[in-house]
Amino acid sequence: MPSRQPASLKTAIKTASKKPSNRGDLAPDRIAAILKALDEAYPNVECALTHRSPWELLVATILSAQCTDERVNKVTPVLFVKYPTPSDFAALSQEVLENDIRSTGFFRNKARSIIGAAQKLVADFKGEVPQSMDALLSLPGVARKTANVVLGTAFGIAGGVVVDTHVFRIARRLRLTSEATPEKVEQDLMKIVPEERWISFSHQVIWFGRKVCVARRPLCLSCPLETLCDAPDKSVNPGRARDL
Ligand code: SF4
Repeated sequence: MPSRQPASLKTAIKTASKKPSNRGDLAPDRIAAILKALDEAYPNVECALTHRSPWELLVATILSAQCTDERVNKVTPVLFVKYPTPSDFAALSQEVLENDIRSTGFFRNKARSIIGAAQKLVADFKGEVPQSMDALLSLPGVARKTANVVLGTAFGIAGGVVVDTHVFRIARRLRLTSEATPEKVEQDLMKIVPEERWISFSHQVIWFGRKVCVARRPLCLSCPLETLCDAPDKSVNPGRARDL
């Protein structure tokens, strides 16, 4: 629901286009051109969260909410030395884990989610991260974004498209959707992006969103998708340029 969306998503909703696809925005040749440009610009991008197992990726993804990957990558190596297995996390007190992950922000909710997920894994999944969307969504603190990251990156399973703040913003800027929730944006993207591209598309757009199509003042003059984009907040837009 809009009132629960993080500030970054609210900003994206305000600044991105409101009406998609009235000029062939979803035409197959345009979608193909976007995918081709992403492939050429980002041929080998992968998940930026350091991990050695599906469980470590799950924890890192939970910690990455409203936090940079760089910060998460500083916290997790220490964390996984202290607590090597899901059983170790399942036995932790809320207070102890909060102190370990405090620097990632929202540490109370994150600690609750991680301990809850660890306890559920131990109780119901023999301590192993499950490989299905439904089973992942049964874990405390795991919604579709986290489940898609784990399925795609840890298991190579295309369960859907990861819609984080970058994918959400860019899908709207490119008029691939006009939806206002990550869940509905994902449904739209799953209809227009071929299934075999869901995993790579997610990685590429997240990378693109960090490096080029950033939230404020996107680097449109060096954007590989510039000729395909008519976003109202393009920084090559004369009206926008006057504001800068
Ligand atoms: S032209 Fe600008 S707004 Fe459009 S996709 Fe590229 S960086 Fe983003």
